[in-house]
Amino acid sequence: MAPLTTTLDHVEVWFLTGSQNLYGEETLRQVAEQSLQISRSLDGSSDVPVRVVWKPVLKDSESIRRAALDANADDRVIGLIAWMHTFSPAKMWIAGLDALTKPLLHLHTQANVELPWAEIDFDFMNLNQAAHGDREFGYIQTRLGVTRKTVVGHVSNPAVSKSIGSWTRAAAGWAASRTMKLARFGDNMRYVAVTEGDKTEAELRFGVQVNTWPVNELAEAVHSTADAAIDALVAEYEDLYDVVPELRHGGARHASLRYGAAIELGLKTFLEAGDFAAFTTSFEDLGALRQLPGLAVQRLMAQGYGFGAEGDWKTSVLVRVANVMGSGLPGGASLMEDYTYDLTPGAELILGAHMLEVSPSLTRERPTLEIHPLGIGGREDPVRLVFNADPGPAVVVAMSDMRDRFRLVANVVEVVEPTAALPNLPVGRAVWRPEPDFATSAAAWLTAGAAHHTVMSTAVGIEVFHDFAEIARTELLVIDKTTTLRDFAREVRWNQSYYRLAQGM
Ligand code: MN
Repeated sequence: MAPLTTTLDHVEVWFLTGSQNLYGEETLRQVAEQSLQISRSLDGSSDVPVRVVWKPVLKDSESIRRAALDANADDRVIGLIAWMHTFSPAKMWIAGLDALTKPLLHLHTQANVELPWAEIDFDFMNLNQAAHGDREFGYIQTRLGVTRKTVVGHVSNPAVSKSIGSWTRAAAGWAASRTMKLARFGDNMRYVAVTEGDKTEAELRFGVQVNTWPVNELAEAVHSTADAAIDALVAEYEDLYDVVPELRHGGARHASLRYGAAIELGLKTFLEAGDFAAFTTSFEDLGALRQLPGLAVQRLMAQGYGFGAEGDWKTSVLVRVANVMGSGLPGGASLMEDYTYDLTPGAELILGAHMLEVSPSLTRERPTLEIHPLGIGGREDPVRLVFNADPGPAVVVAMSDMRDRFRLVANVVEVVEPTAALPNLPVGRAVWRPEPDFATSAAAWLTAGAAHHTVMSTAVGIEVFHDFAEIARTELLVIDKTTTLRDFAREVRWNQSYYRLAQGM
């Protein structure tokens, strides 16, 4: 039993430098010194959110294999960065790369930025030969089919440190996915197709354990919450949000707010007791719960938990992964649902929301805490936070089960201010403009068979999700400003063959 960890300060990547014994001690000393400097520079970069740990220069097969095995076995290590400062004959890397189970980044760099044209001699050439050392390394990775990210350039170039930083975030998301336990309360919404999926395949592919618990075990935890804990949490609500008068202390419906607090406390107790990092609910199966969890779910998503409504465990996994990948960055991650459109020609917008469950991490404004009837589920009126998502760049990502595998689909979007106030829509909501344009985006989304539920991330962009999908060896179809419907449809068709072949028999 432990509180949820979403920060990245406890994880690290190792910096490996390849060489060989041919060069002699003096050159190898310089290789070590210079690679240590590069490793330190990345470790100190604000673009890289995890520790970068330098390892002694690798010069033979056995030490390379040992480094891979040590990385595999160490839970703090979420990935390896490898650089061939000098020539490292790549057959020495076969056993190590074959054994490696952690994400890999190939950094193609060198110690110097400019060539010292006037002084350059063959000692310099011997020391600074990543230009062909890394080509040898690229060859063996491709020949072995090793999944990796390749980053090119000097580490002082912000494009390089940012790209490495994105990969470390994806690797952290992957590590979180590999150890994730997800609690389902109730099953999927009756008759819905896209929220279904192969939970056994998900555990093999993403590492996530998806299992179901009776909702009345949750209800018991909710109903046994101590009054003092409810008092304290209600005080926190009054501190953080504009609570409507009827819900405040002494208000006519204060008891409903207290019940909302009990749901949050009971849910959190249950999740912590089982080490769960994600969960789902179902409005069709609430057992003894008197409200559909709204406020509680919103706040737990903002604390780092994954969540999917109507039993949607796949989106719950994505929300948790996005929360980890965006750790420490402005913005957040939330369950989102494409709901309705503004079809004004040339100014089309998508209005996204959910019955209740949108994370307040999408706004820096102070939400209002309100109570309204909910036409669905047949329970007491639920309490919920009401706000608009902040304008700015975002990405929405969905996961579909394509029978023999999973498909991720992402759309790069711009969240905008709603065109006008929404006084009769008391939920957390977001209005966005999809890239490249509304018609292409929606047609591509429908062609891909992507879901109506997504994770919306305003903290990390498409590069991090792309890196995550690569690490997970899972298809990701991206709809962005370069997308044309004709090419997209072809990619969908070709991918069907590729991913089937890539999995083997
Ligand atoms: Mn829904």
